[in-house]
Amino acid sequence: MFSSSLAELITENKPLAPFCWLKIGGNARFFAAPSTLDQLCQLCTEATQAGLPIRVIGGGSNLLVRAAGVDGLVLHLTGELAEVKTQGNTLSAGGGAPLHDAVSQAAAAGLAGLEEFAGIPGSVGGAVVSNSGVTNDDIGSRVKRVHVVHRSGEPAVMERDQLQFGFRRSNLEDLILAEVEMDLSSGDSAELTRRLQATWIGKRATQPPTDARVAQAFIEPSGSSIADLLDAAGMRTAAEGEVAMSSQFPGYLMVNENADAEQVLALTSRIMRAVEVQSGIQLQPQLKIW
Ligand SMILES: Cc1cc2nc3c(=O)[nH]c(=O)nc-3n(C[C@H](O)[C@H](O)[C@H](O)COP(=O)(O)OP(=O)(O)OC[C@H]3O[C@@H](n4cnc5c(N)ncnc54)[C@H](O)[C@@H]3O)c2cc1C
Repeated sequence: MFSSSLAELITENKPLAPFCWLKIGGNARFFAAPSTLDQLCQLCTEATQAGLPIRVIGGGSNLLVRAAGVDGLVLHLTGELAEVKTQGNTLSAGGGAPLHDAVSQAAAAGLAGLEEFAGIPGSVGGAVVSNSGVTNDDIGSRVKRVHVVHRSGEPAVMERDQLQFGFRRSNLEDLILAEVEMDLSSGDSAELTRRLQATWIGKRATQPPTDARVAQAFIEPSGSSIADLLDAAGMRTAAEGEVAMSSQFPGYLMVNENADAEQVLALTSRIMRAVEVQSGIQLQPQLKIW
């Protein structure tokens, strides 16, 4: 299926659950962790020529993989595609770089603008594609240029005026994000590090521990509190099989060892219906489903 030059990069039937925060889901028929742009392009070219769908997994903090897994090629960006560099007021981060590396390296280099994203799990690629953020601010507003790869294997550069960011979405969702360049402003490194730590501590107090099997079930609806909506619909602690909404951290679902993706989907659908009936608000699911 793949040429001999790529063979050593490919693993067949790779379990995806260990890559996901929820730790559930099936296997990838083919899996590769490219470490250079050339490898990434070649993998995409050959997978597309073979008619295989291509997916990218970042930190797995916003992903629900069904038991059937992915009958295609799953990519996990590493090496050069996961590095963070700074030059002047520009921070360049590989799509596979952990977001917290970008946040902490920006502060250390005296670059302001990412501190408030401290504590958001996942990769830079996952954050930019989904335009992750906090109330009234998101990462897309910092992006000045992206280096992407089309599923055909063709690399491209997109400038700020070609990028569209909406609430937890962007026009990059069909592309593979190899590198992101962000425009930041100058600041005092010690002060930025203090702000970053304060944000991190605040965030940790409002979200489950990082070793828990959790996910943010819904996009925070604008103008309403998810906790209030769940309470009003009697869904604050709703459960389905081995999956339950967290009573302590509203909007987060937590799964037990024997949970499966269908239970997660059943619970989120039930909650969405109940909230709509009770409040007339259509919650949007946050998790990407494979
Ligand atoms: C405890 C907890 C707290 C959270 N807090 C927040 C928060 O405050 N704000 C917020 O916005 N979100 C939050 N989230 C949701 C999640 O962390 C973000 O959506 C995060 O940006 C997802 O990044 P990821 O790398 O984990 O993506 P993944 O889960 O790996 O993937 C999600 C989607 O992004 C795509 N993707 C990933 N990398 C790439 C790439 N390089 N190129 C193209 N597509 C890619 C995947 O294909 C998939 O469709 C939270 C989640 C948890 C579990």
